[in-house]
Amino acid sequence: MPTASFAQLPNAQPTADIIRKDILANPGFGRYFSDHMAHIRWTLDADWHGHEVRPYGPLTLDPAAAVLHYGQEIFEGIKAYRHADGSVWTFRPEKNAERFRRSARRLALPELSDEDFIGSLKALLAQDHEWVPTPSSEADECSLYLRPFMIASETFLGVRPSHEVDYYVIASPAAAYFKGGVEPVSIWLSSNYKRAAAGGTGFAKCGGNYAASLAAQKEAEAHGCGQVAFLDAAENKWIEELGGMNLFFVFKDGRIVTPKLTGTILEGVTRDSVLTLARDAGLQPEERHISIDEWREGAASGEITEVFACGTAAVITPVGELVGEDERIRCQPSDNPVAKQIRRTLLDLQYGRAEDTHGWLTRL
Ligand code: PMP
Repeated sequence: MPTASFAQLPNAQPTADIIRKDILANPGFGRYFSDHMAHIRWTLDADWHGHEVRPYGPLTLDPAAAVLHYGQEIFEGIKAYRHADGSVWTFRPEKNAERFRRSARRLALPELSDEDFIGSLKALLAQDHEWVPTPSSEADECSLYLRPFMIASETFLGVRPSHEVDYYVIASPAAAYFKGGVEPVSIWLSSNYKRAAAGGTGFAKCGGNYAASLAAQKEAEAHGCGQVAFLDAAENKWIEELGGMNLFFVFKDGRIVTPKLTGTILEGVTRDSVLTLARDAGLQPEERHISIDEWREGAASGEITEVFACGTAAVITPVGELVGEDERIRCQPSDNPVAKQIRRTLLDLQYGRAEDTHGWLTRL
């Protein structure tokens, strides 16, 4: 695929080497940003134009910009990984590009081509490749987290799709998302809140979904949990997903089940990759409805041996327990071998330690 042509506007005051190295040694998550950002502008008359990589910095938005009032906004999350030979790669970017277009259609935003989406990542990395951390060992899951996003920037308070839109990509060096690594996490079962309903925006990666999940996230934290599990809005029965990750259930007989896509959950790239890797490993992945009762009963009887969450930021993380208003659902103690095996396989692929048999890596 040809790389779109982006004007390169170098930062006159890039971060000093010594400071960047200090940040990369301990980046945390989402706190520090590289020196540049990619940008493409869209207008109703002129379509996508003005491709550029410019210095990272505040945006100038009119206070009446549509995004600030009606939340017409979408985003993506994808990582750049440094391999042992120093080269930098990303994982299945065409899947993120496709999802970004699905999100755009739902939010009545213009669609961005694969060429511009992947081209913008490449153009940004051409300037900011030094911001991709180098793993110190196989256990070091550092990466450069890339955040493409699109906002309605027209100055207009009428409620209709914006005639002016801006697309950006920013980059943030990242260590492992959960400090505990593969330590099991506790999840809060939200009974007061729903994440998405049929016909809504659950399948889209739009800011509004996350804004709506924050009250539940606060509840989770108050109960000592790091994430929230949501049930479906219609029957309050079916497990959907976490606030920022998809869920998998491992059964004693080798079946591995994830909630099927019904339009209310986000179609994770990691979810899709896990389904393929599970098939490769001779497991029998199933996409189907799974109820909270099946989780309760399966964990109690030992039928369900592991539960794990997956997503780009956190890779694969075992779920230790599900905490509800007056219950705790816990599988029998286990070392989570299936989650750990799939996690290892996925990381080996992403960091170039295993053969890319599915053609999932793209060089940046
Ligand atoms: N569900 C939600 C709500 C998310 O925000 C994410 C993170 N993008 C995921 C699932 C996992 O998706 P992916 O594997 O593409 O990161």
